[in-house]
Amino acid sequence: MNDEDGQYFYHPLENIEDVDIFYEAVERQHLTKAISRERPYTYWTIELYDQKNGIRGGGGLGILAADTRRVAEDTGIPFVLVTPFYPSETHQKIRDGFIIDEHRPVNYKNFGFKYVDQVSIKCCGTLCKLDVVEKKFKNTRIVSVTEPNFGELYSGMSGSDHRLYQEVALGFGGYSALKLLGLKPAIMQLNEVATFFAALARLDELAHNGMDFYEAVVYTRKHTLYTNHTLVQAAEADFGIEQFEKYVFPNLKSLAVKKWLRDKFVNGRIKLSSVTIEIAELRSGVSKLHARVANYRDIAGNKVKFKAITNGIDMRTWVLPELLDYYEENNILDMYLAPTTDYQDKLDCITADKIREFKSIGRAKLNHVLKTRPNQHGQILHFSDDEFIFDFKRRFVDYKRPELPFKDIDRLRTILMRRGAHYILAGRVHTGDDTMSSKLRQLLNLVDKDAYLREHVHYIADYDEELAYGLSCGSNVAINVPIVGLEACGTSWMKDVANLNLLISTHDGGVADGSVNGYLNVSGESEAEEIDVLYQRMEEAVAAYDNDFDLEFLIRQQLETFLPVVSGARMLKDYLDYLFPK
Ligand SMILES: *Cc1c(COP(=O)(O)O)cnc(C)c1O
Repeated sequence: MNDEDGQYFYHPLENIEDVDIFYEAVERQHLTKAISRERPYTYWTIELYDQKNGIRGGGGLGILAADTRRVAEDTGIPFVLVTPFYPSETHQKIRDGFIIDEHRPVNYKNFGFKYVDQVSIKCCGTLCKLDVVEKKFKNTRIVSVTEPNFGELYSGMSGSDHRLYQEVALGFGGYSALKLLGLKPAIMQLNEVATFFAALARLDELAHNGMDFYEAVVYTRKHTLYTNHTLVQAAEADFGIEQFEKYVFPNLKSLAVKKWLRDKFVNGRIKLSSVTIEIAELRSGVSKLHARVANYRDIAGNKVKFKAITNGIDMRTWVLPELLDYYEENNILDMYLAPTTDYQDKLDCITADKIREFKSIGRAKLNHVLKTRPNQHGQILHFSDDEFIFDFKRRFVDYKRPELPFKDIDRLRTILMRRGAHYILAGRVHTGDDTMSSKLRQLLNLVDKDAYLREHVHYIADYDEELAYGLSCGSNVAINVPIVGLEACGTSWMKDVANLNLLISTHDGGVADGSVNGYLNVSGESEAEEIDVLYQRMEEAVAAYDNDFDLEFLIRQQLETFLPVVSGARMLKDYLDYLFPK
């Protein structure tokens, strides 16, 4: 992955009008006025997945946050990301089929964060001190709150006191931290409802400082964007009023805000989505399909509309540098790494030879990553350029269906045998998810009993950014088969498309932004039908690698369909257009 320090080109916002660029939105006078170094775009997230900066996340929510900041850095937008710095993180190992969690301490000082000062919040009748630490980049920064007992990301149950404490610390503590740093948010983007308390802290400050309560609500609403990643409100954990008495109300200074919040409890319980919807007039979903189907109601019972802003990835982080240069040299991507207006016409330069050349460079990266990451048998893997690799890399959760390709083990074996292909599985099991742990164990047992599959199906533990990167540039085919309707967007598949992997996928999440003809689509009336199609697609993918015409056709088709979707610059532009309309 590329280094953040020094090698990015940079356009300070004041000069941006000189450049003929994709970022029309940034050029607009009112936006340059609206956002400045002192009044930055602020992005609030309980999860950031940015290991190079010392913060390890859990999945897509954190990856999105990290990528959004990197794209803002690359495009010169003054941007502050506010997130906790967790003093401990979990890693996973696999032994005899059992997943073992390991906890490791993390110190912010080892990652370029500087101590700023302390802020305090009130919890359970006492004052809790939080350290404010920050890491500055050129035009972006990460501002964090932390303390030795802050705990790990997603530790405890959702809805527990500790989670509420972490969320309150991020919201109220983070808001105080910004004040300490002399920063006023031009916009507050709430990456999911765990960050609600940041907007509440702002509302409270405005109302307490003499603004009429109604005006304070309107002001907060107009400057707050709630980004939803979840499909069903019912699945969200709620909090009890007694928990709010301990952790939330003591931090509010305005009586009007207290009363407003108290009125939002139903039978003594509250869901943060219901109040986030109230406090944020701007609301977005993370793909076209997700924005359409997310089923949320406001307090009056009306269906909530979400603006579709499909996630993108930071190309500089995720795409093989040699390939990224090639995209730029051939005017497929512009200087912001967004597709050019006529990128479709430029895709002819993606020839089968070029695809193999980039795959070979990517294969070396994958082998490098695998040097320190043994498979389930403790073996270190190394793949030559002409070995064929399928991968399935994503969190082990039910709806993503990691077991689908193993439903007909004979057929899977036949497909792999035809070319001596390997199948790499990578994905973390959520701590405490016994169902998925045992599903993984069953799956590996099945594989172990088969002499051929034992040598060709590999599970690599502790899935993280490095492994995601290695696999997306070094394997040949990526498999993504969530149950249709359950993936909000997904970004793993974007890394695959950008790195010239063939994508086999169901039509779900961000994939459904494109046409079903744009990739190797898996569909069917029943799961059995889907499985049959999945195997056909795997056979097609193997065959395509032996036929230059087919390989070029499929890869170009994917790029044509998805380059605008996967571009992080496109995503940020969409956010800016939504937040600062003409
Ligand atoms: C890209 C990435 C994700 C995103 O996963 P999806 O299943 O596509 O949402 C999660 N974890 C890691 C480590 C990643 O690199």
